Amino acid sequence: MINSEARAQRRQRLDALRESVLHRPVLARHLSEGFNGRWSRRQWAHASLFATLGMLVAAIVPGFRAIEPATPLTPALHSMALPLPTLPMARLRGQPGDSWQAVRVERGQTLGALFEQFNIPAATLQRVMKQPGARESLSRLKPGMELQFDVPVPAPGQQVALRGLRFDRGDSHRVELSLDGENIREKVIERQTETRTVVLSGKVGRSLFRSARKLGLSPSNVNTLTGEIFKYDIDFNEDVGANDRFSVVVEQTWREGELVKTGPVLAATFTTGKKLHSGFRFERNGKPEYFTGDGRPLKKSFIRMPIPYARLTSGFGARRHPVLGRMRMHKGVDYAAGTGTPIMAAGDARVVSAGWQGGYGNAVVLDHGRGYTTLYGHMSRLGKIKRGQRIGQGTVIGYVGTTGMSTGPHLHYEFRINGVHRNPLSITMPPPEPLTGGPLAQFRKQTSVALARIQEVENIIYADVSPVSSKVAAVASKPGKKG
Ligand SMILES: [Zn+2]
Repeated sequence: MINSEARAQRRQRLDALRESVLHRPVLARHLSEGFNGRWSRRQWAHASLFATLGMLVAAIVPGFRAIEPATPLTPALHSMALPLPTLPMARLRGQPGDSWQAVRVERGQTLGALFEQFNIPAATLQRVMKQPGARESLSRLKPGMELQFDVPVPAPGQQVALRGLRFDRGDSHRVELSLDGENIREKVIERQTETRTVVLSGKVGRSLFRSARKLGLSPSNVNTLTGEIFKYDIDFNEDVGANDRFSVVVEQTWREGELVKTGPVLAATFTTGKKLHSGFRFERNGKPEYFTGDGRPLKKSFIRMPIPYARLTSGFGARRHPVLGRMRMHKGVDYAAGTGTPIMAAGDARVVSAGWQGGYGNAVVLDHGRGYTTLYGHMSRLGKIKRGQRIGQGTVIGYVGTTGMSTGPHLHYEFRINGVHRNPLSITMPPPEPLTGGPLAQFRKQTSVALARIQEVENIIYADVSPVSSKVAAVASKPGKKG
């Protein structure tokens, strides 16, 4: 009795196992069948995502750089488009008899693991990897990358002979290897890519990051919004609500209906409550920067505190020196912070010196031009910077420590204007240099087009947009007014 029950159970397990072996190719989609009129779960998921996130809309703005700003807004938005998911299976339709199967690489997956999944012998893998030009593309697979295998339908437990392998070389080339006995033939198929300038617009919802990602913005785009363009004006922990909206102009590269690349943020607006913030990318002296609508850099020339989350422990001025014990002028300010806390360059600068400097211990001196220099002392160690090097604001130049004449881990920070020590906490920081002349004119031309497009899109998506967007237009058209 017990025996037969155990047998039945074992039978069941074996059946289940066989079932799973038989259905293993489900892991990879069968492409030979072509699109059978049904959507896969993934495609449904995509479709429902676009349906439920009705507020997340992408509109195509064909080459806004090329469009003259005088172009009147077209009432019919011929350029609006929803990036619906494509059906990759349909691509290989019309190739009867083969059994190409597509796999999307998962994080950490290697080509070896994929070969194992398909039951392709390891010797084949070695032969493929010896093929010139294959190793570069295949030795480090990126998650999300698509590979296609031409293999016969496997018999359970048996190895299969790989007939063909397709993979991408860069964005615009697909390589097809045909394996015939010991021979491998390579065919390179050029794949057309298309670059479009688009306005992506959405509401913050529960998470700005998630909403932005769902729209097709890259993590680096989101960082640009929160850590660069709007960081001085919006407190993303306090000021932002679910109904606040953002619109971003980016260049997207598409290939066969699939998004392959999203470029940097070209323009962005963020509406918190009834307040509109905006920022625009523009290259000044060959270096991209973000500006307000009237051409002022969004970046301040100096950040107030060169270390985050530090406590001011000693101000500027006369005080009893903690080590020497007598009254002495304190020529800077002290911030207490844990050893190893990164110290950032207060502004764009050239490194004057980086190394041991007597009582300052490990110290860095930076020259910010226009007569401004800063000094950072008592570092535990220096960052990866060299004397004479040009560095950007926020570059880590060293780490908090207690080297030199110091009683505990802290940063000693000095701010000098034309060689005179000044209190960095009370002086008015110099405004960054705004755009002027030719570059300003060029900037205005670009931004007015971008803004018009954003406005166009927002007018369509959000019913309540009119008061804010008229302000947008005002920012773009009134010269010299701060945006
Ligand atoms: Zn000090």
